[in-house]
Amino acid sequence: MPYRAEYIWIDGLTPTSKLRSKTKIVPDGQEPPIWGFDGSSTEQAPGDSSDCVLKPVLTVPDPIRGGDDVLVLNEVLNVDMTPHPSNTRAQAVATAERYAEHEAWFGIEQEYTFFKDGRPHGWPIGGFPAPQGGYYCGVGADEIWGRDVVEAHTEACMKAGLEISGTNAEVMIGQWEFQIGPLDGVAVADQIWLARWLLYRLAEEYDISAHLNPKPVEGDWNGAGAHTNFSTKEMRENYDAIIAACEALGKKADLHIENYGAGIERRLTGLHETAPWTEYSYGVSDRGASVRIPWQVAKEGKGYIEDRRPNANMDPYVVTHLITDTVCSALEA
Ligand code: ADP
Ligand code: MN
Ligand code: MN
Ligand code: MN
Repeated sequence: MPYRAEYIWIDGLTPTSKLRSKTKIVPDGQEPPIWGFDGSSTEQAPGDSSDCVLKPVLTVPDPIRGGDDVLVLNEVLNVDMTPHPSNTRAQAVATAERYAEHEAWFGIEQEYTFFKDGRPHGWPIGGFPAPQGGYYCGVGADEIWGRDVVEAHTEACMKAGLEISGTNAEVMIGQWEFQIGPLDGVAVADQIWLARWLLYRLAEEYDISAHLNPKPVEGDWNGAGAHTNFSTKEMRENYDAIIAACEALGKKADLHIENYGAGIERRLTGLHETAPWTEYSYGVSDRGASVRIPWQVAKEGKGYIEDRRPNANMDPYVVTHLITDTVCSALEA
């Protein structure tokens, strides 16, 4: 029997690209082949030369359709098979290969906000919800909105074979998080993109939309981030490498901030468990620092660090490329 392959790719919208997908019926016994799409509809090509190439990079079971159907994550190539300018994965692969001996691992905490009827899910019509305080890891219909979608999404990620490592309700009403990892930089980024697609797709079934807006509601409400936990082989063995990594990130703080997602200055205000985007800092257990060293890591003298700066809407290929490049080049210096 032929099977359905859902081809998923990242478009060319700026400053924040979106996910796209379309279905191919693949004959029995064949692998999902190279395919194409109309790049003039995704800001990836002009109308008079519109063809772009989809090259499969990761195929997993489709947890929604089931059976033999699959989800296929693609990278976008030009027709001469070179990486398209919107293809940030190519650079992430090159950096991962260059520093492979450091065995970088990443765990990404993807925060997001559910919206229903044009407002954050749980937000009352014509008024305000109770101030934040009870929503984080809350329970009960007065604290929690959208758990049915979260449960369906978690199960789908597990069935697809993604390395989802946890979920929790967040500080702002209707805001949630899932974590992927630890995995190498390319794998974690591939899986974050697939997990995002599954989230949007499953939320459709509930007439809810999930958003990665870094500051969905101005004022005294937490923003949405993508804390990126990171270690190298050296950091998993000794504390000097942990400190060296924190120092290296500080030397390139501006470059990282510029590439950690559009609107980062709206989220990294210095309030709501963030450090101001203009000032780099690191510290043990410090949720007001740019980079946090978890207390167990300080106690054991080895482990990993948490870069708290990336926005929810960051491109994980860009973030894992930059952290690997900045930290591993310093370790080698
Ligand atoms: P937080 O306490 O900041 O909410 P989470 O539990 O949400 O942290 O996420 C921590 C993430 O760090 C998880 O995805 C986990 O897999 C990942 N992680 C754990 N150990 C390491 C490590 N040595 N290197 C990289 N990532 C790691
Ligand atoms: Mn977390
Ligand atoms: Mn969180
Ligand atoms: Mn965190």
